[in-house]
Amino acid sequence: MRKTFIAGNWKMNKTPSEAVAFAKELVVSLKDSDTKLMIAPSMTAISQVADVIKGSNIILGAQNMASVESGARTGETSVLMLKDLGVEAVILGHSERRSIYGESDVLINEKIKLALSHNLEVLFCIGETLEEREAGKAEEVCFSQTELGLKGISAEEMKNIVIAYEPVWAIGTGKTASPEDAQAIHKAIRGKIEELYSKEVAEKVIIQYGGSVKPGNVKELMAQPDIDGGLIGGAALDTDSFTALANYN
Ligand code: 13P
Repeated sequence: MRKTFIAGNWKMNKTPSEAVAFAKELVVSLKDSDTKLMIAPSMTAISQVADVIKGSNIILGAQNMASVESGARTGETSVLMLKDLGVEAVILGHSERRSIYGESDVLINEKIKLALSHNLEVLFCIGETLEEREAGKAEEVCFSQTELGLKGISAEEMKNIVIAYEPVWAIGTGKTASPEDAQAIHKAIRGKIEELYSKEVAEKVIIQYGGSVKPGNVKELMAQPDIDGGLIGGAALDTDSFTALANYN
């Protein structure tokens, strides 16, 4: 049985002081939730949010990470810095990183390998654009991103991989994939993991859905057999809605 995993990606929102106030509210409102929970504040807020959620049932995540441990990488953040602050998980391969900052499958694969070597849990994002979906290529794109992103990663290391399927056209648009469409592609992605690894690995891997998840649609999405959680942007930014998402069942 896979445990539902609800994660909030705050993206470039909330100043450190706003983030601290919000995290304090979440620690209280989420304390009785039996769902696996994560929040990913911006880099500037991580240190202070770490202090607030220490000892709570909320995992601390980062939204990105450099592909090397240290050195001449102006503006980047190292895995060592994240680990030192108590970060336990990192979102990698987000479509905004792919499309706005030009991150390639190869770079994402390097980042994933580095994160895993430091025992971080990785929320590995994949998903097709609207153009790709309309051209009937959604599965093909997801398969290729999965294969390239996970290149060289062992079955043992897959225990620390969460796949987040986020159709690009559903992110921040208010358009959600229908539960049936999302289920179909989650099932296909799980099939791809079985092909790359084994039935056992495929049955264990958590596959989150992301893209305009909100309290009003979370229940039907999570009811699908291959949807094991959500990676949530906009609706993760206020206490009532993130709490409702965490406690959807
Ligand atoms: P929204 O929930 O705002 O659509 O964002 C989804 C997302 O990109 C989470 O990583």
